[in-house]
Amino acid sequence: MSLIRFNDVSKRFALKGRTQDALSGVSLGIARGEVFGIIGPSGSGKSTLVRLINRLETPTRGTVEVNGVDIGKLKAAQLSAVRHKLGMIFQAFGLLSSKTARQNVLFALKLAQKSLTDADHQRVDDLLARVGLSDHADKYPSQLSGGQKQRVAIARALANAPDILLCDEPTSALDPEATQGVLDLLAELNRDLGLTVVIVTHEMDVVRQICDCVAVLEEGRLAEVGTVAQVLFDPVSDAARALGKHLLP
Ligand code: ADP
Ligand code: MG
Repeated sequence: MSLIRFNDVSKRFALKGRTQDALSGVSLGIARGEVFGIIGPSGSGKSTLVRLINRLETPTRGTVEVNGVDIGKLKAAQLSAVRHKLGMIFQAFGLLSSKTARQNVLFALKLAQKSLTDADHQRVDDLLARVGLSDHADKYPSQLSGGQKQRVAIARALANAPDILLCDEPTSALDPEATQGVLDLLAELNRDLGLTVVIVTHEMDVVRQICDCVAVLEEGRLAEVGTVAQVLFDPVSDAARALGKHLLP
């Protein structure tokens, strides 16, 4: 059974009297414990797809299931419980600039529970150690590099021990070295914690490095989905061929 399932999902936005089909008839499954890539050019619907998983967007048609539950049918309290089990990180990090690294991670715990125990404070320090930031815990975002900021965001996303980490272009604002560090960290978290990682990217190189399976989007349609080996070395769609061209011998 898939941990995440899209059943014939379409999303249409209406903006100033015009409509935009961000996704059209997408069906796919993401298995527990895998690193799943979503790739496509700008505007192909990648962010919309990933935002549907934690109901930051709702489908115009079709259903999205997490753990066998149609998340469109959840009441507010149930939805917030599901959301605590879904971490998310973004290209622009989304850290609170007036809080230190440690306070940013603590804040995620405070949102999810009424009071904090000593064990919670210890957990935050453990998370900061896990992402390699023990020496930077008391720094503000402005005092951290891009790669370090994304590590804080990852620690914060893990604060409530999620099953799934959603990553929307997590390395697009980073230089090659910081990109490598963040990808290595995501692969390690997948391996050590069994975390299911969904990663949006426009770079096939990111997919090649850490994904098990990948979905290729083109103008809101699923052009292709399969293992990375299939999609990279034996693509059936022009979209996948175009994205992987520079990686072939
Ligand atoms: P990607 O992440 O692949 O660049 P998006 O999912 O952000 O693509 O967007 C897909 C399409 O939907 C684009 O044409 C975009 O302009 C449109 N879109 C996304 N969000 C909105 C919104 N809130 N209102 C109107 N149009 C939107
Ligand atoms: Mg996007």
